[in-house]
Amino acid sequence: MKTTEIQELNNKHIINTYGARKLAFVRGEGAKLWDADGKEYLDFFAGIAVVNLGHCHPEVTEAICAQARMLVHVSNLYYIKPQVELAALLCKHSFADRWFFCNGGAEANEAAFKIARRYWYEKGVFRPTILAAHQSFHGRTLATITATGQPKYQKGFDPLVPNIRHFPFDDVEALREAMTPDVGAVILEPIQGEGGVRVPRDDYLKQVRELCTERKTLLILDEVQTGLGRTGKLFAHEHYGITPDIMTLAKGLGNGVPIGAMGCTEEASSGFSPGAHACTFGGNPLSTAAAVATIKALTRPGFIEQAAKLGEYFFNKLRALAAKHSKIAEVRGKGLIIGVEMKEPVAPIVEKLLDARIVCGPAGPNVLRFIPPLIVTQTDVDHVVAALDAALGASS
Ligand SMILES: *Cc1c(COP(=O)(O)O)cnc(C)c1O
Repeated sequence: MKTTEIQELNNKHIINTYGARKLAFVRGEGAKLWDADGKEYLDFFAGIAVVNLGHCHPEVTEAICAQARMLVHVSNLYYIKPQVELAALLCKHSFADRWFFCNGGAEANEAAFKIARRYWYEKGVFRPTILAAHQSFHGRTLATITATGQPKYQKGFDPLVPNIRHFPFDDVEALREAMTPDVGAVILEPIQGEGGVRVPRDDYLKQVRELCTERKTLLILDEVQTGLGRTGKLFAHEHYGITPDIMTLAKGLGNGVPIGAMGCTEEASSGFSPGAHACTFGGNPLSTAAAVATIKALTRPGFIEQAAKLGEYFFNKLRALAAKHSKIAEVRGKGLIIGVEMKEPVAPIVEKLLDARIVCGPAGPNVLRFIPPLIVTQTDVDHVVAALDAALGASS
């Protein structure tokens, strides 16, 4: 099928939530993608920070194929071997003592909200309120659009979920004020992704942690986008010398196979008891086998460190570009999540880069977002920077 045929079928049969698009990718390898007409692209978006190891990583592909031949699904009425292997690996590499698996980021955050509310309910304490930041993004279910601090995602979906309130990001005093006695949990992205790649000041998360500890409020970190090596550490909170009570993961966890996870301390895990929560597909053999292979590859010595170095190289190159082009307002990021804020809408620049066979995307109207697979090379980065320079060149 050619691109135009795929487009026609899409427009006829798919509910139009994603709008018009130009391309249909049919094959990938590493940081390369090929469209239905055979054209090759360099991928600096990784399917929205998902294929952190690159497309069709051989070890993940092998794990998927081997598991598909062995057993795809049985349900959580039985123990699941790759699921417990994944949980043990995640415990080894994080603060968390226990895990619950589901299918994606929104579901992981739903699990986090539910365990937080149930934790206080079990203690007989009235603390059902959850605080979330302005400009945040936590998913598209009703509870997670309520937590998402961007009105455009909530429009027309009233009534939303009660007792979820918002506070200004990167302002610990504002959070202190918002923390009334009914607040049981605070959810935060260590770096806001969809909201425009917003990096808080260096001591913010530490101050939030101290405040939450002081008030015994559960701190939930949404690492759905920032986790799994994206920022130059396995989890972004490692940069700040803190640990949350609860953490959610998804995007990069299965390197493209759908999976979400909610991990927490032993103490927070007491919120859930048998029957409190469930998910038919959650932690199924196929997705967890893919995630085990993904974590093993990500945590191989030197892998994430190399990505961190490359991120720094990319960041500095973009900063140099910002000095040359007055259209660039700011360059922000950590590791390989980098936002270039422009003084104008970025959609035309995304188009120009696509014409140059480079895939990237926006994070809001004015921010260009680069979230490449972590395996990209210095040559790839140089190529993208030169293409962006050219795309900005004509009218700067
Ligand atoms: C993408 C994202 C989500 C939602 O994940 P889905 O798998 O689309 O439900 C939640 N939180 C953050 C920070 C994200 O970037």
